[in-house]
Formats: sequence, structure tokens, C-alpha cells
Amino acid sequence: MASARWLLLIADIGGYTDYMRSHRMSLAHAEVNTARLLEKVIDAAPGFELIEIEGDAAFLARQADALDTDATVALTLQAAIAMHRAFHVERQYVVTNLCPCHTCTEAENLKLKFVVHVGEVATQTIRQRRKLVGIDVILVHRLLKNPITVPEYVLLSEELYDTASAPLPGPAHEVSQDLEGIGPVRAYFLDVADLPVPAGPLPDPSMLERVGRTLVIAGSGMPHMLGFRRRRRTAPAF
Ligand SMILES: [Zn+2]
Repeated sequence: MASARWLLLIADIGGYTDYMRSHRMSLAHAEVNTARLLEKVIDAAPGFELIEIEGDAAFLARQADALDTDATVALTLQAAIAMHRAFHVERQYVVTNLCPCHTCTEAENLKLKFVVHVGEVATQTIRQRRKLVGIDVILVHRLLKNPITVPEYVLLSEELYDTASAPLPGPAHEVSQDLEGIGPVRAYFLDVADLPVPAGPLPDPSMLERVGRTLVIAGSGMPHMLGFRRRRRTAPAF
């Protein structure tokens, strides 16, 4: 097993409640909407490799050995801003489709948050899929459970935060936690609202586009509504 330094990033969509998933059609549409949103988010960070889709989150990574250490945080924030923008553009299409189900009408409550860490990771390739293993992989996943109350943020582990030599583009707030199986850790989060996110307007889909999107989602929901498919939710082992 090869070991190297990797930048580990989880982009996690929040906002779908159990209530919204409690109806078959809503559940099917939650799955379709989440998949589309995650796809756009992943595409917006071409420097990162997709390691795994974990429920409503994407686990991405990039090898950090070749990165300029001082610039790693700046690069991370740049990627987060691009992913955040892609998420909100796509969310706008979901919000404006004409489906009356709960998950489509309430899609504007969906939020995107990030947790990021840098650490020594072992890699394993199984059937052309790269797997990352090690305590740092567990740590980045555990950081997802945190007491932060702002809806959208980028949480940097202390190891990553400490590599930044230039000032950050927004205030960093410290959070201290006792992570299960790891112990006390410190991390720092930036509120996305404080970051220089592009100010361009979100798309305003035409009625034709809205109808088109509605037909796509109605079509994707069909097998679920008929009970042919069961939702597959990969339960992360963290
Ligand atoms: Zn719907």
C-alpha cells in the first residue's frame, strides 16, 4: 500500500429532512436532485479526484505532495467557492421545476458545506477504484459532525489551517471538539457568506426549460413510484 500526503475534502448537501423523504415520490426526487447537484459540484473541482459518493456527500481528494504547501488553503477555498457556485446554479433549476412534491418545492432549503483536512493517507486500488485509508480519512469524516450553526461553511482542520501563510479571505472561527476514537481536535471554519463568492445572478430558467426539467424529474421518479427500484444509500463506515 502506497502512502502519501493527500488533501481530503467532503462536500456535503444538507437540508433534506426525514419528513421530506417519507413519501415515495419525494424520496425518488430527493435522490435525483442530490445526484444532479453532486455531479455539478464534483465537475466544478476538476483538480480533485472523486473517491466516493457517500449518501448526500461527495468525498474528494487530491495528492498534496506536489502542491505548494503555502497555497493549499487558498486552493482549497478557491475550489470550495467554485463548487458552491455550481451547487447554487443547479439548485436554481431544481427550485424552478414544476414538480409539486416536497423535495422539489423545498429545494431552496438545500445547503452545501465543506470539511477539509490534509494528512498522510494510504491508497489502495481495487478494480480501478482508488480507496483511501488511514486515521486522517476517519478524521475528515468525523469533522462532519460538529456544532457549527451557520448553514454554509468551509471547515479546515488545524493541520490544514496551519499551512496557510497568507491571510484568509474571511474571518476564521475556531471550533474545538472531542472526536470519537480520535480525541480533542481544533478546527477553523469560514462562513461562506464571508467569502468572495461570485456576485453574478443565478439563472432564470425560461418556462420551456422549467417544463423540460419537470419532465426529466417525472421520468426519473417513475420507476421508484412504481416500486421497481429501492433507494440505495451507501452508508459510510465512519
Ligand atoms: Zn419532485
